[in-house]
Amino acid sequence: MTTTHPTDESHAFALDADDPLAQYRERFHIPHKDGKPVVYLTGNSLGCQPKDVRRLVEQELDDWATLAVNAHFEGRDPWKDYHEQFREPLARLVGAKTTEVVAMNSLTVNLHLLMLSFYRPTRDRYKIVIEDHAFPSDSYAVGSQATLHGYAISDTVIRLKPRAGEHTLRTEDVCELLRADGDSIALVMIGGVNYLTGQLMDMPTITRAGHEAGCVVGWDLAHAAGNVPLQLHDWNADFAAWCSYKYLNSGPGAIAGAFVHERHHTADLPRLAGWWGNDPETRFKMQPGFEPVASADAWQLSNPPILAMTPLKASLAIFDEIGIERLREKAIKITGYMESLIRSRCGEAISILTPLDPNERGSQLSLVVNTPTPRIRDRLEERGVVADFREPNVIRAAPVPSYVSYHDVWRFVNTLADLVS
Ligand SMILES: *Cc1c(COP(=O)(O)O)cnc(C)c1O
Repeated sequence: MTTTHPTDESHAFALDADDPLAQYRERFHIPHKDGKPVVYLTGNSLGCQPKDVRRLVEQELDDWATLAVNAHFEGRDPWKDYHEQFREPLARLVGAKTTEVVAMNSLTVNLHLLMLSFYRPTRDRYKIVIEDHAFPSDSYAVGSQATLHGYAISDTVIRLKPRAGEHTLRTEDVCELLRADGDSIALVMIGGVNYLTGQLMDMPTITRAGHEAGCVVGWDLAHAAGNVPLQLHDWNADFAAWCSYKYLNSGPGAIAGAFVHERHHTADLPRLAGWWGNDPETRFKMQPGFEPVASADAWQLSNPPILAMTPLKASLAIFDEIGIERLREKAIKITGYMESLIRSRCGEAISILTPLDPNERGSQLSLVVNTPTPRIRDRLEERGVVADFREPNVIRAAPVPSYVSYHDVWRFVNTLADLVS
């Protein structure tokens, strides 16, 4: 049960004064309206820009201007091995070995590249499990993979639905489905944190249940990476992919990430190949035979887009400085604070879709607006609050712990209470 907080503004200021992460807000550009920083609650959609991004991108632009091709070797951060620097911070972020992660492409592209290897349907075992509330791109991706292998989507894709009258999934129901129907399921690929409800899934338990049923288990971590602590290696996930523009603050369409468990690195798996997946020892010998490197890099195709990758460097540096555990600590506290204020101030007008147990959510509350409130998103924005709205009546509010303050949350709930009362 969440603590009940006092609703007065001075309490918000006191929480900020006591916040060990308060200083990190300065490291980001927060959008302004009427000369005042907005309350930015859409870091789950597009994270704010780390101030270091501009300097680092300009460094690459300068190296390109002054060194051109030689910047591959002589640049301040040589391009030839540029992607290697993301290995360690990404491994820390998702709980992986450094050989298990790679920064590349975008999320849906990575899901497809990984499914080409890990979705191996057979006559008896060909189904794919996703959540009913899966992000549309994931539905399209698994559907098209089924089609690619000659299976009908309607007979292949199993969509996990909450129980009648409930909004989120129960781990026991997911595991029960895997126990009962696992024989026909080739792949389980669900979101670690659901984009709509903000539910944090019990990834280790579901991964184990999937494996016991003989299924491959991959995770879409679009809303989990940079939001909640992950232990992909220990959980034994087969693969995972995530984008970097949401909680990872790396800019619109940023370079995504992928994880492949080390037990698959030397396995005989089909995959699409390109020269950047070749062993670096022979990559530049320009031979026709593909020699995959024994790491997640084997799934890379092209040489990395340096300018697009640079923001990730600025962002991951901040994650490394703070550490995901301290972020999680504040996320639990500030999300609980938001929940408490909403209950106290909005009453029946707002109900919460997101699980109330902090262990089952990250830093997002999905709010159902029960009283008709036309143009609520625009009216919040007119008052300096940027929050995401999904039809018909869901506001998704993410108090991202690295740059959202307790006073921001207070301003948000104050404004919301005003609009719905
Ligand atoms: C944001 C999001 C996407 C977006 O996919 P892109 O390939 O980055 O455009 C896909 N899946 C989920 C679950 C998401 O939350």
